[in-house]
Amino acid sequence: MRITRITMWGLDLPLKRPYSLSGGRLHFERLDTTILRLETDEGLAGWGEGCPWGSTYLPAFPGGIRAGVAELAPAVLGLDPRRTDAVYRAMDLALPGHGYVKSAIDMACWDLVARSAGLPLCDVLGGREDGRVRLHSSIPSGTPDELLAEIGLARAEGYTFHSAKVGADVEADIERMRVLDAAMAPGEEVTFDVNRAWTPAEAIAALNATRDLHRVVEQPCQTYEQHLAVRAVVGQPLALDESLVTLGDALRLVADRACEVVGLKVGRVGGLTPARRIRDVCLEAGIRMNVEDTGGTRLSASAAVHLAQTVPEPFRRATWLCFDHLTVDPVVGGAVNDGGWSAAPSGVGIGAEPDEQALGEPLATFEEV
Ligand code: MG
Repeated sequence: MRITRITMWGLDLPLKRPYSLSGGRLHFERLDTTILRLETDEGLAGWGEGCPWGSTYLPAFPGGIRAGVAELAPAVLGLDPRRTDAVYRAMDLALPGHGYVKSAIDMACWDLVARSAGLPLCDVLGGREDGRVRLHSSIPSGTPDELLAEIGLARAEGYTFHSAKVGADVEADIERMRVLDAAMAPGEEVTFDVNRAWTPAEAIAALNATRDLHRVVEQPCQTYEQHLAVRAVVGQPLALDESLVTLGDALRLVADRACEVVGLKVGRVGGLTPARRIRDVCLEAGIRMNVEDTGGTRLSASAAVHLAQTVPEPFRRATWLCFDHLTVDPVVGGAVNDGGWSAAPSGVGIGAEPDEQALGEPLATFEEV
């Protein structure tokens, strides 16, 4: 099987409500996603998506994906998409780094692996594990009342697990964390996601003042080194998210015993190929995982749910459906929010496919010369 054509679309994804994180310093009203279709000489087509949650959240941006796909297309055309490691090595040779660019191509290759095998994606990524995948909400930064109002909206959609974005001045954050902790019903859970906003001194002050809450606190500081300095003097379970980009990062955080939880975001780590390796490292180390993507439609969310479905309990912590935040849903099939839970679709491949009419005219098409 050979990849014969790559078609690329760009799609504007307005959010239902404006979204702030990292103490309000990052603000979003719409996302911009890139969707790819890889066609093969055997008539099968696979789909992939890359959406780095705007341009300010990560060292990644939508235009970078589009330029990168144009750069990578000549190296990928003609390869067998089922040989995912070989395709990835060819991409690394053509363009070192830039993992978030490669994720969309890699996702489409894995869709083709599963489609050609006649299996759901999860069953070629290691196999479906029992049980459903818990969803977590994503609660934007705000005052305690604003946070509680957003949690109320999430509850109405079935969510019982919340990722609340904090990270501003220490006193206000201590109040936010105490108010949200007290508002949790039995069986409900909240993680405080700082999204790198605190200095180490602020993180130590805020965490030591809320140690009694026993809640997971995610990515308190900008850098991994700052995180380790904080880790040494606080008692909470900690999560790393933005600091986990490469397999090497995963090995290092295990060696340093840096966290109990990771956010394994498919796009940020460079696609399903590296993500499944990181999954296995975390399983070996006993680290729990939120497996999700950085953003995008039901297509990328469904691919991430497939990977999450391969993680056994209790290491499969939760996943996140970005499309619950969007005003548009250009994808047919795929994972759904079933009262705060989801499951990998049972059809072949990702089990989700964009509606080509909703995608409009492609931005570019790349073919073998
Ligand atoms: Mg996070």
